Amino acid sequence: MHSNRRKATRILIIYTGGTVGMVVDSQSGALKPIGFREIRDNIPEIVRLGFEVDVHAFNPPLDSSNMQPAIWVDLAGIIGKKYDGYDGFVILHGSDTMAFTASALSFLLENLGKPVILTGSQLPIGEIRTDARENIITALEIAAARKGGKALVPEVCIYFDYQLFRGNRSKKYNAEKFEAFYSMNYPPLAEAGINIKYQREAIVKAPEAALKLHSKLDNQVAVLKIFPGINAATVDAILATPGCKAVILETFGSGNASTEAWFIAALQKAIARGLIIVNITQCDGGAVELGRYETSAQLQKIGVWSGHDLTFEAALAKLMFLLAQKHSRKRLRELMETSLRGELTND
Ligand code: ASP
Repeated sequence: MHSNRRKATRILIIYTGGTVGMVVDSQSGALKPIGFREIRDNIPEIVRLGFEVDVHAFNPPLDSSNMQPAIWVDLAGIIGKKYDGYDGFVILHGSDTMAFTASALSFLLENLGKPVILTGSQLPIGEIRTDARENIITALEIAAARKGGKALVPEVCIYFDYQLFRGNRSKKYNAEKFEAFYSMNYPPLAEAGINIKYQREAIVKAPEAALKLHSKLDNQVAVLKIFPGINAATVDAILATPGCKAVILETFGSGNASTEAWFIAALQKAIARGLIIVNITQCDGGAVELGRYETSAQLQKIGVWSGHDLTFEAALAKLMFLLAQKHSRKRLRELMETSLRGELTND
């Protein structure tokens, strides 16, 4: 028996694809995505949750390695269009690029007041040992959770293996474990056991303002991941990528890089011709602290921006989002180095 209140709850599942709905192709032996019916047939429990669940299924469904910024914009658009009709949204998505999609959606959906929970699985729904069933059922519960008439988690999140993370703080760190994600620089927003325990102080408060939907992203971004022995030709080629407006510089430890003259000169020249360079750490946890070591003081001096404790996924999505808005360089830097959606800590 379900209360009327629960019955009145409406959740929209957006099925984009991913392992969750894959089967083994009889010819190639590789996993490939199939339609939503397979998923629904394998989770009859959805009906027992007692709330209304509608489905918007991508046709064809995608392996998330084929995800594109244009599809992030489409996804945000679907949520924007259906926003008033639903209490929450669950996006079924491949785990490979789930953290990128979650990060991008967090920026595209400004003043979000309802849960947008991404989930998927490491094993397809049809497998006996699948993790899909628990992930989907609990993601639906979280998307429907309310207190005092308000959504408990008005954020874009990833739910996977009993943990709920802020989407733009998450990272897929394991290709094999059911526990595929973590969020090193921000605590989980909830943990599911017998009860779902929400960490209320870690969750953003629902905004008073109405949802503001953004629909532009600019992918003129490149990545320079440094390593001992990287040569000038590689660095120069990346910094000279045609059309590129911003480069994410993945550095060592707390934002450190070689002090060799050729390297610093290459970055300095690129900055002088207008390229934005944002420093994030190759470590999964901790933050960039420009000036802490001599090996980062140089970067600070030549005008490299700090990405603080942004994940790579969030840095990329945030740059694509901000570059599309045509801010002045000064404003863009301010926005890049401040938290817009809880994606970074800079105090
Ligand atoms: N390749 C799959 C995808 O990201 C992996 C997964 O779903 O876990 O679509």
